[in-house]
Amino acid sequence: MIVGASAAGISAALALRRLDYRGTITVVDGDPHPPYERPPLSKALLDDTTGGLVPIVPWSTYADLEIDLRLGERVTAIDPGALKVHLGGGEQLDVDRLVLATGVTARHLALPHADADNVLTLRDATDAARLSAQLARGGPLVIIGAGFIGLELAAVARQRGIDVTVVEAQPRPLANIVGPEVASLVVDLHRGHGVRLITGATVERFAATGSTVEQVVLSTGHRLDTATVVVGIGVQPRTELGTSARVDVDHWGFPVNEFGQTSRAWIFAAGDVASQAHPHLATRGRLEHWDTAQRHGAAVGSTVAGEPVRYKEAPYAWSDQYDATLQIIGRPRGTDQVVIREGATPQRFLAFWLRDGRLAAAAGMDASREIGIARRLVASTVLVDNAVLADAATDLRALLKPHRPRSPEQLAG
Ligand SMILES: Cc1cc2nc3c(=O)[nH]c(=O)nc-3n(C[C@H](O)[C@H](O)[C@H](O)COP(=O)(O)OP(=O)(O)OC[C@H]3O[C@@H](n4cnc5c(N)ncnc54)[C@H](O)[C@@H]3O)c2cc1C
Repeated sequence: MIVGASAAGISAALALRRLDYRGTITVVDGDPHPPYERPPLSKALLDDTTGGLVPIVPWSTYADLEIDLRLGERVTAIDPGALKVHLGGGEQLDVDRLVLATGVTARHLALPHADADNVLTLRDATDAARLSAQLARGGPLVIIGAGFIGLELAAVARQRGIDVTVVEAQPRPLANIVGPEVASLVVDLHRGHGVRLITGATVERFAATGSTVEQVVLSTGHRLDTATVVVGIGVQPRTELGTSARVDVDHWGFPVNEFGQTSRAWIFAAGDVASQAHPHLATRGRLEHWDTAQRHGAAVGSTVAGEPVRYKEAPYAWSDQYDATLQIIGRPRGTDQVVIREGATPQRFLAFWLRDGRLAAAAGMDASREIGIARRLVASTVLVDNAVLADAATDLRALLKPHRPRSPEQLAG
C-alpha cells in the first residue's frame, strides 16, 4: 500500500514491479487527477497551448503493471495492530507493507483575509487551474516569498507582460539554498526583466473589499496594489497519519533511516515527507525536489521488494527562470569554499562549492552540459582545484579522468 500518487509514490510502485514484486500494489491519493508532474504547474501556467497535465507515466502503465490506483480517496487512519488502512469513504484495506509518500502542503499566512478569493498558493493541479484563471485577468501580481516557485511564477508572469512585485523576508532570495553570490545573480536576472523585488519585508496586513484583497501592506510601509496575491512561503510536511500509525514524526516529516524505514519497520516514508539524515545534508532535513523524490521513492520501492538500497545520491534540483534553467547538484553549505567561474552573467553562470578539496555542490544557469559533468564530479572522490574550476577554459570532463602515476618506464621515455 502506497499513500500518495506523485513523484515518490509512483516511483516506488514502478520499482516494485521492475523488481518482479508479485503482491498487490495499491496507490491511494486524495487528488482525483491521474498522476501528473508538478514542476510544469508553475512553468506553463499561463500557456494555453500546453493542453493540460503532464502524466508521470502513460495512463495504460498502471493497468499493464497491475498497479491499483485509488484516486480521489484519502487515507484517514492506519491501524498498525490490525494491519488495516482506513479510507475516507469508510472502507478498510489490508496492508502488510506501507509507503507514506504524502508530500507537503503549502504554508499559509496567519492574517485576516489570507483566505480571500484572490490570495492563492500553488501545490497541485486544482491550485494551478485557479491561479491560471485568476492571472488571465492581468496584474498587478504580488508574490509573497522568493523561493523557487515564487521566482518561477514571477518569470512566467513577466513574460506575459504582467506587473510583478516579489516580497521576500530575507535580504536575498534563495541565499539559504545557493549562498549570497549566486543569489545576487538571480536577483539581477529578475530585476533585469522588470520584477520589482522588495527584500527584508514581511506582510503586515491585507486591505480587502469583500472577499478580494486590493492592497498588500508591508512591514516596510509599502502599500502594493494587487489583483492577485500568491503566497509561496514554504511548506509543511503531511504527517497527519503518523498519529494513528504510531510512527515518529519530527519537525521535517517522518524520520527515516537510510533505507526509508520509519520508526515502525514495515512502514516506510519517501520523497518530500521523509526526514532524512542524508550525507549531503548538514543536519537531518527534507529534500524537496522532483528528481530526488523519484529516486528516493525508487530506492524505497526496491527495499520493499527485497533488494535494499541505501539512498545517498546527491540531491538535484532545477528551476526554469525566463529562457534559462537554473540547476543545482548537491547542497552548498555556508562553510564551503565558493568558486564562481569567470565570465558569469545573470543569464549564464557556473558556481562550485568545495569541501575538503572535493566538489560538494554546483549550480549553473544555462549550463546543463557542465552540470551533468559536475554531477559526476560530486559523486566521485576526485580532488579539484579552485583556480582550475574558476578558469572558463577548463573542460570539466578532463577533471573526471583519474590521474594515474606514471611508471618508471614511461618516465624514462
Ligand atoms: C508548482 C511546483 C513546481 C515545482 N517545480 C519543481 C522543479 O522545477 N524542480 C524540482 O526539482 N522540483 C520542483 N517541485 C517540487 C517537486 O514537485 C516535489 O519535490 C515533488 O512533487 C515531491 O514528490 P512527493 O511524491 O514526495 O510528494 P507530493 O508531490 O507532494 O505528493 C504527495 C501526494 O500525497 C497525497 N496525499 C497526502 N496525504 C494523503 C492522504 N492522507 N491520503 C491520500 N493521499 C494523500 C497528495 O494528494 C499528493 O498527491 C515543484 C513543486 C511544485 C508544487
